[in-house]
Amino acid sequence: MASIFSRIIAGEIPSYRVAEDEKHYAFLDINPVAEGHVLVVPKHEVDYIFDLPDDEYAALTLFAKRVAKAQRKAIPCKRIAEAVLGLEVPHAHIHLIPINCEADVDFHHKVAVTPERMTEIAKAIADKFE
Ligand code: 5GP
Repeated sequence: MASIFSRIIAGEIPSYRVAEDEKHYAFLDINPVAEGHVLVVPKHEVDYIFDLPDDEYAALTLFAKRVAKAQRKAIPCKRIAEAVLGLEVPHAHIHLIPINCEADVDFHHKVAVTPERMTEIAKAIADKFE
C-alpha cells in the first residue's frame, strides 16, 4: 500500500506544497513544531532514509538545501534546523524547521497554525524557491 506521503505526492491527499521537482516533493508538516515546518520527501518511496541509494540520498539533501534557502528568505528566523526521525511515516523524509533557539526544535511541542496561515506560508516559501 502506498504511504501517506506517496498519496500526497499523487494528489490524492491535499497538502500545502512549497516546492517540487521530478524526484522530490516539499510541503508543510500538517502538525508543525514551528511556523514554516517543511517535510522534504523523495518521490521514490523508501521507508528508511539511510537505505536510499547514495545518488538519491545526495539529491534529496541538495533539494532540501534549496528549500531551506527559500524558507530562510520567507520566514524571519536565525536558522533552518534539519532533522530526520522517520518514526511515524515509513517514507523517507527530512524535517526543515525555522528556529531562533534550541528550544524551537521540540517535537513534543506543536504550534497551532490556521489553514489560511498555512496557505500564506506555503506560498511565501514557494515564491522564494529557486
Ligand atoms: P516522523 O515520521 O519523522 O517521525 O514524523 C512524520 C511527520 O509527518 C510528523 O511531523 C507529522 O506531523 C507529519 N505528517 C503525518 N501525516 C501527515 C499528513 O498527512 N500531511 C502532512 N502534511 N504531514 C503529515
